[in-house]
Amino acid sequence: MIFDTHAHLNFFEFNSDREDIIKKCLESGVGMINVGTNLKSSEKAIEIAQNFDNVFASVGLHPLNIASEFLRNKGYSGEAEGILENSFDIEKYKFLAKNKKVVAIGETGLDYWYKPKGTAKKELFKEEQKKIFIEHLDLAEELNLPVIIHCRSAFDDLYEIISKRNIKGVLHCFTGSIDDMKRFADLGLYIGINGIIFKIDLKEVMSKVPLEKVLIETDCPYLSPPQFETRNNPMSINQIIDEFSHNRSENIEEIKIKTSNNAVELFGLN
Ligand SMILES: [Zn+2]
Repeated sequence: MIFDTHAHLNFFEFNSDREDIIKKCLESGVGMINVGTNLKSSEKAIEIAQNFDNVFASVGLHPLNIASEFLRNKGYSGEAEGILENSFDIEKYKFLAKNKKVVAIGETGLDYWYKPKGTAKKELFKEEQKKIFIEHLDLAEELNLPVIIHCRSAFDDLYEIISKRNIKGVLHCFTGSIDDMKRFADLGLYIGINGIIFKIDLKEVMSKVPLEKVLIETDCPYLSPPQFETRNNPMSINQIIDEFSHNRSENIEEIKIKTSNNAVELFGLN
């Protein structure tokens, strides 16, 4: 069994054929972690996980689902589930996280890609994200769970927060520099490799990242590799591993075994 460590079969894009896709994946030896991005999608991820072996869930509030003034004014309605939340309701998330199929907290993190104009507004936007990110870290620590971290254009702030703590987890959909990869791997974090490798140049990161720090993921329904279905699904993990292997000295089988073992180890999958 290999694992797609970051999937969103819990999203509405899969409402019509979710079960079929999951069954197909499992029959092909591909398990998965479906990642929540707000309460509703976190609940859905758990509901799905309860119906299948080798399908797990993560619960959290994505930074772009925080109901900041900026995102509201922008008319931004959050990711696929379309629900912004005013705050991170720790008690509700804690209740969900105690389900035995929940293997991580997240996705949470910092996303400064979209940001308001004006220094004061920009700072407020960042502070809101940092506060909620730290609340996720607190919960993860309390429950001794790893954290699935989303980071876009915010690596310095992320490092400042994480380097002060003892966090286990993954920087999912890694888009940082080679130096970012090194400093976060040195903190013990895993580096999530997905279809973004077909869109931006991560060759140096892929060739130098220690294999014992790599997790493979799809972030489906997003980030479909070229020549794959427009709506991505966990089966594309084979294409991602294949592309990753072109930058490595290890062969594909070795990469599959090692990265799957990494997933089992970090998330305690069994
Ligand atoms: Zn995601």
